[in-house]
Amino acid sequence: MKAARLYEYDPAMNVELKIEDVAPPEITGPNEVVVKVGAAGLCRTDLHIIEGVWKDIMDGEGTLLPYIMGHENAGWIEDVGSAVTSVKPGDAVIVHPHRSCGICLNCRYGHDMYCDHGLFPGLGLDGGFAEYFKTSESSVIKLNTGITPLEVAPMADAGITAYRAAKKAAKLTYPGAWTVLLGIGGLGHIALQCLKHMSGGRVIAVDREPAAQVLAKELGADVVLDGGPDLIEQVKEVTGGGAHVVIDFVGELGVENICWKLLRQGGELIVVGYGGKIEIPTLEFVVNEIKIGGSLVGDYIELVELMELNADGKVKMHQTEYKLANINQAIDDFKHRRFTGRGVIVP
Ligand SMILES: [Zn+2]
Ligand SMILES: [Zn+2]
Repeated sequence: MKAARLYEYDPAMNVELKIEDVAPPEITGPNEVVVKVGAAGLCRTDLHIIEGVWKDIMDGEGTLLPYIMGHENAGWIEDVGSAVTSVKPGDAVIVHPHRSCGICLNCRYGHDMYCDHGLFPGLGLDGGFAEYFKTSESSVIKLNTGITPLEVAPMADAGITAYRAAKKAAKLTYPGAWTVLLGIGGLGHIALQCLKHMSGGRVIAVDREPAAQVLAKELGADVVLDGGPDLIEQVKEVTGGGAHVVIDFVGELGVENICWKLLRQGGELIVVGYGGKIEIPTLEFVVNEIKIGGSLVGDYIELVELMELNADGKVKMHQTEYKLANINQAIDDFKHRRFTGRGVIVP
């Protein structure tokens, strides 16, 4: 099969993936499924993998390369292990990115992302920037009638991550309350749509790119700001003292030390983007009682819920498609933000 493989890490990102012929994955366990990739979303995490940010976590021994990235996958079941009963070849599916075991206590509680034995195709083992990849039966969700893998692939990670953060924000907000979304890219534009359907509050969308600002307006943001040097003052003025919730989809490039300054007393920051380091005086926590927490992808059932919102036409992925052969162009365009929404790789 055709696949795009990473051969070296480079903090400067001056490396290209190699498109080559490799052996397709084979079923080796009774609960495994092989998926024929319909599409695979291109994620900022893929850029961080190339930069080497994930090297110590997923490749501590330095033996992983070359390997196939791609963890935002949807497609059709190609082959199934002997114990698989819920799907059959030909079924259209979206794939929860974490192959959780279903047996450990965290899995029993429904915390798929905390699984003691989880695997993450695309992050430490071969993923979906290829014609086929392998996962487990417990990770797949059959698509609703009329939904194609191409339309929804990035929902598998970008979508579910945005959904989980938006769900947290929706629980914290009420009519009249303000949520600030920092970064209206692949995740931010999904969070915006989720919030419009799950919270009675108002949303401020912040992005430096004019095209992202236009998209935010189209998707119903109450206020759109360009993230200039006056951002803190602007947010305080619009919200009457600061946001109730801020979701930071950037987490680096200096945004990580602006985001918490946008909160009002008692406000909550949800960190989704990563790469930077937050530095906050402890006094801030005391005087303003701000809370800060992270949000990690999402559970299987949250992807099920998101796919229902999608089936009802309430949340749609805005995306630009690239053939697998052009994946390096897609990565370059992503780095320079030449498209809005998500970039999607199609084998
Ligand atoms: Zn991702
Ligand atoms: Zn588990």
